[in-house]
Parts: sequence; C-alpha cells; structure tokens
Amino acid sequence: MTWQQNVEDFGEEIEPGSTFRFECHQGLSCFGTCCATDVTLTPYDIACMRRHLDTDSHQFLSAYCVTCVDALTGFPSVLLKHKEDSTCIFLKSHGCNIYQSRPSCCRNYPLARVIEHDDKSGKRLTRYYLQRRADYCEGLGTGPEWAIDAYCEQNGLGPYEKANDIFLQIPFAFERLPFSLKHDKEVQTMIYQAVFDFDNFFEKYARFGPTTIPADDYEMLATVASITLNLIKRTADLKS
Ligand code: SF4
Ligand code: SF4
Repeated sequence: MTWQQNVEDFGEEIEPGSTFRFECHQGLSCFGTCCATDVTLTPYDIACMRRHLDTDSHQFLSAYCVTCVDALTGFPSVLLKHKEDSTCIFLKSHGCNIYQSRPSCCRNYPLARVIEHDDKSGKRLTRYYLQRRADYCEGLGTGPEWAIDAYCEQNGLGPYEKANDIFLQIPFAFERLPFSLKHDKEVQTMIYQAVFDFDNFFEKYARFGPTTIPADDYEMLATVASITLNLIKRTADLKS
C-alpha cells in the first residue's frame, strides 16, 4: 500500500470535541495483528528510528524498508519491511522492539490523521478518522474514553505532527508538476534521495553549498523540505 492509498484508507470521521474508546495491552488474542499491516514512514519517522538504532538514513532504508512509487501520483513511498510471517520487521514476542521511536502511524493508531490542502486558499484542514478494516482489533471500543488531543499527547505525537506537516508541503508541491515529470524516474529518484535518504543527500549537497547538517532532526528536515521544494520548482522551470 502506498502513502497516498494509506492516507485515503480511513474510516469513520471523529468530529472535534467527540471521543472514542480504546485500550491495548499484552495478552489480547489480537496482540501484534495490527503489526502485519503496511506501515508507511515519514522522513521524521526515519530520522527518529535511525537515531534510536544508531545508524544513518541510508543504512536504515536498506536494512528495514521497502520503497515504492505511487502509480497515480508518482510520489515515492517508504514502508517498513515485513518478516516471513508477514509481521513488521520490528515485532518481537514481547511487542514492538523500537517502541520508543515507533513511527507516526503506529502512534496514531487507531486514529488516522488526514490533512486536506486547499490550493486556492492555501489553507489546510486536519481531520481524524477511526481506522476501518481493523475488526480484528479487540481494543477498539473498550477501555478509557479518549479525546483526540489527549490521545495524541499520550502517544508523544506533538513533534511528529510538527515535522510531518512540514514534509507534507513536498507531496503537495510534487502533485502540481506536469504528469510527465511526476512519472520521470530521474525526478522520482531525486525526490526519494532528498526526502528519505537525507543523511546521504546532505553529505552530497554540503559539497555544493554552505549548508551544514543541523544536529536537530526537526531543523534538519525543515532544511531538507526547503531544498526539495526548491528542486521541485527548478525542475518545473527547467523542463517547461
Ligand atoms: S488491541 Fe488493536 S492495537 Fe492492540 S494489539 Fe490488538 S489489534 Fe493491535
Ligand atoms: S514499528 Fe512497532 S508498533 Fe509499528 S508495526 Fe512495527 S512492531 Fe508494530
């Protein structure tokens, strides 16, 4: 499943101010079933996980991820690899082996956070949905009652949302390229390297400009986003 399909695969919308019930714990017969679904990563997810695992983006992508290109939009996506038993590469018998740095969509579950962008006004609208296709999940509809904000805070989503919102500028800008450019392999590779293999990209880019890699992951991704938006603009200008 690609990034776009994943975003579109949401269920029942939760209106602001309303609540939902959810509780997950070891011992449930469904424990780990949710970790057999596709997990699409954002650049900030990769930044946090590669730091936790003391590696760089290039090694992380090669060891733990698969990449694909959305057939419709042409935008590259990165997903966590599955093991032979179809579960996530990080799922162990005790649960998630990288729980502290688990990615945004695992933190959000059972919510799906969807951002809509209005090209005319430039405004964004954030909606939350209770994910569908999770009828195996025994935790849905049980346990404590959560408001969306409290659930996001409990799961440490603040920094992820801030960084992911910056990243979203890139697919939105990419979407405006002509069809032939969106489906040009060289353009797709350039975007993939800049956005997801950022450590490698920075090392190469640093030779051509004064930019050094910011130590803070949020600052680093904000710089990557700004460079990538510039690349998208230059690509559109050069090929038009
Ligand atoms: S309750 Fe839901 S989230 Fe928890 S392990 Fe079961 S399927 Fe996964
Ligand atoms: S990263 Fe952790 S929580 Fe997310 S799917 Fe993999 S094992 Fe499950």
